[in-house]
Amino acid sequence: MATVLIVEDDMTIRTAVIRSLTERGHVVTSAPTAMTGLQLAVSEKPDVVLLDLGLPDLDGREVLRMLRAVNQVPIIVITARNMESEMVRLLDAGADDYLVKPFGGAQLDARIRAVLRRTEGEAEEAAVVVGGLSVNARTRQAFLDDALLELTPREFDLLHYLASRAGTVVSKRNLLTDVWNLPYAGADKTVDVHLSWLRRKLGETAQEPRYLHTVRRVGVKLAAPVPGPSQ
Ligand code: CA
Repeated sequence: MATVLIVEDDMTIRTAVIRSLTERGHVVTSAPTAMTGLQLAVSEKPDVVLLDLGLPDLDGREVLRMLRAVNQVPIIVITARNMESEMVRLLDAGADDYLVKPFGGAQLDARIRAVLRRTEGEAEEAAVVVGGLSVNARTRQAFLDDALLELTPREFDLLHYLASRAGTVVSKRNLLTDVWNLPYAGADKTVDVHLSWLRRKLGETAQEPRYLHTVRRVGVKLAAPVPGPSQ
């Protein structure tokens, strides 16, 4: 079961889709215009959006772009035209799948389930968990003991890079080339500075590390903290 938002100005299609999806156990909200659709996509947080491209108020591709800018909800585009070049453009623009009118309820339901399986799989794959630390590359959010960490984009990249290689010592040279895309220039302090900022956000110090362990003259290693005698 999923919560589905359908954005479609044709009342006949809208009603048919609502009935068919409701019969299959989904919860459906609907909007007849792009503007209402965008509002509902934010306020209702649907699991999937069905988006008709021929809407009265805004161009379909523009709506697709705006939806994508708002959140990562999977979008199935509904179109009247079955043109391959058009489909490729839509998929490039951020659509997850498409349906060509006319379509049946079973086909629609199958597409919804496929899109949800795919995105759920991606979300699971995307989260790297090390001890109480969870780093999700898809949402670009990191949590420490369930509290959201306020990281800059670079700090996030650094944390994700280290967490993906948990338990392994990573050299500062590798960090500089892989996270910063910079050539290694010996005495560069960039990595050290960002590591110390990241440490502070993780609530630890170089003297009393929990997750980030400096290995002298080699690099840095991220590892789950070992419970001490006081815990
Ligand atoms: Ca339409």
